[in-house]
Amino acid sequence: MSKFKTINQKVDLCVVGGGLAGLCAAVEAARRGIKVALMQDRPMLGGNASSEIRMRIYGARERNNQETGIIEELLLNNYYRNTYKNFYIWDSIMWEIVKQEKNINLILNCSCMDAEMKNNQIISVTGWQTTTQLFHKVYAALFADCSGDSVLAPLSGAEYRVGHEARSEYNEDLAPVYADKKTMGMTIQLQATKTTEATTYIPPAWAEKYTKEMLPYRIPTMNKDEGPFNTGNLWFLELGGIRDGIADTEEIRDELLAIVYGIWDFIKNDPENKEKNANYSLEWIGFLPGKRESRRYLGDYIMNQNDVLSGGKFDDLVAYGGWFFDEHHPEGFRTSERPSVISPTPSPYGIPYRCLYSRNVENLFCAGRNISLSHVAFSSARVMGTCALLGQAVGAAAAVAVRHGETPRGVYRYYITELQQILMEDDCWLPGIKRQISTLTKDASLTSSEGNVDVLRNGHDRPIGNEDNGYNLKIGDYVEYSLSRPQLVRRVRFVFDSDLNRELLPCGRNMRSPSASQNFSKQAIKVPGTIIKDFRLILSMEDGKQKIIEITDNHQRLVYIDINMEVKSIRFEPLSTWGNAEAHIFSFEIE
Ligand SMILES: Cc1cc2nc3c(=O)[nH]c(=O)nc-3n(C[C@H](O)[C@H](O)[C@H](O)COP(=O)(O)OP(=O)(O)OC[C@H]3O[C@@H](n4cnc5c(N)ncnc54)[C@H](O)[C@@H]3O)c2cc1C
Repeated sequence: MSKFKTINQKVDLCVVGGGLAGLCAAVEAARRGIKVALMQDRPMLGGNASSEIRMRIYGARERNNQETGIIEELLLNNYYRNTYKNFYIWDSIMWEIVKQEKNINLILNCSCMDAEMKNNQIISVTGWQTTTQLFHKVYAALFADCSGDSVLAPLSGAEYRVGHEARSEYNEDLAPVYADKKTMGMTIQLQATKTTEATTYIPPAWAEKYTKEMLPYRIPTMNKDEGPFNTGNLWFLELGGIRDGIADTEEIRDELLAIVYGIWDFIKNDPENKEKNANYSLEWIGFLPGKRESRRYLGDYIMNQNDVLSGGKFDDLVAYGGWFFDEHHPEGFRTSERPSVISPTPSPYGIPYRCLYSRNVENLFCAGRNISLSHVAFSSARVMGTCALLGQAVGAAAAVAVRHGETPRGVYRYYITELQQILMEDDCWLPGIKRQISTLTKDASLTSSEGNVDVLRNGHDRPIGNEDNGYNLKIGDYVEYSLSRPQLVRRVRFVFDSDLNRELLPCGRNMRSPSASQNFSKQAIKVPGTIIKDFRLILSMEDGKQKIIEITDNHQRLVYIDINMEVKSIRFEPLSTWGNAEAHIFSFEIE
């Protein structure tokens, strides 16, 4: 029995792990009205996306497929406030979105280390908070493991798997012939900065020593345009795939430090590099390895390579992926083979809800890189844009479960349509599914200063195939809903155009957030020019009176404006954009 105090609390949902998956789960659940505790073992949120690890957010490839919902809200806040992609500002943006939610109790610096069970349910989890020397015990109806390493699996007895399945298990041609426990390794990144004067560097005695010949497919460079295996992004400084990616983390970190300091020595002091890189200096080296792969839960469904290849057309689709199968060599930096092999996937492909909860612990969700997938499917779905969507889906599912007194599985059985509609209302795209629009919107007459605007209430909030699903408005134009009689309008919902192709590279990848190795370029980012910045709503009442609501400095895609009045008509007028001559908008609805 410890001499330190325990703080007890009771919530509806306890999320363990505050990477992008856990963050999105907590925020979505809180906004949907349930009480949430978010327990995170680090001083900041974001996991691999945070300034402690510095991975940039990738997601579904190809045009118009970028993830929306909470991840887009975060990125648009980042565009607005973080012009030079500073990692500490990005940390604060991830932290504030959680702190602003009154329904979330954020418990930072608190490592979950125990779970209390009753039958097949978790009753409470306990974490140790290093800053306060307190234990935090959280009782909840539901738990979501977003810890990446699936800490609640061994603590609760939930079934999980590590490593590769055999090729025959799911008939996956990218899987090895025999199953094994090998994984993708962990990485420590470095970040350089450009200097006006030449700088020198003396490596520590314990750093490894490299020549060009010792780095096949891995020549580090400060010029990101020099090619994928000759690269400014040092993701391939990777180890641990043939060891235990949890138990051996401390010794793997030490070895990675010797590698990464040795690589910086190569960049600065190798005869071919010395002059070329004289004006770069070391800005940052991480001390916390970023982990790619650990335990994966076994859910009611285990998604595999063939599901991905056939587009994931599941009835219970609640998220989507669209990254390549991106398989890293388990020996990581120590193999002379290519560090990763890329194989194509469709983009997007659907991910089913049944992969997001444990099959044997009744009240346990999972989201992020630990969901119920085969290793091959995981190699695609593990990127952070996708993990954020999975988190948001779990947050919404928890709210549905609490509302109906159900388990995660019960939500699948009885409330999957409700869950899907909630996610789409919260601006998560579910490929192939249409969002229902409100009766008020359907019944009102919709007119504009120019042409047919019905596209604004068609239930699609982004371009799909050849359909733009949007409407162009010049500044000075208007769109108006008129009601047959005065009616209470609770709020107005807009989806503006945040340019889902804004950082699409020629290879079809999206680059969305600060990146460790590319900070030195200091490229400025700004709010997409397609977003409406200032606009006005004119509400007309039965007696001829009007109320004008003016919104300034909007930089979001999904925008709700509270009305709570009986009105006869509502007119929307754009006043300015963030750069484009014409405004472009996907949705304008009244509820
Ligand atoms: C080196 C590297 C490069 C990558 N490159 C990219 C890339 O370029 N683009 C991309 O999109 N993806 C990339 N990925 C993949 C991606 O980063 C991960 O798959 C993703 O971060 C998973 O998100 P998550 O929220 O599930 O987990 P994580 O980001 O790992 O977050 C989990 C959080 O839970 C916390 N936690 C763990 N245990 C506990 C506990 N016991 N109690 C409380 N909290 C706990 C952790 O500290 C962490 O903050 C890369 C991964 C690595 C490691």
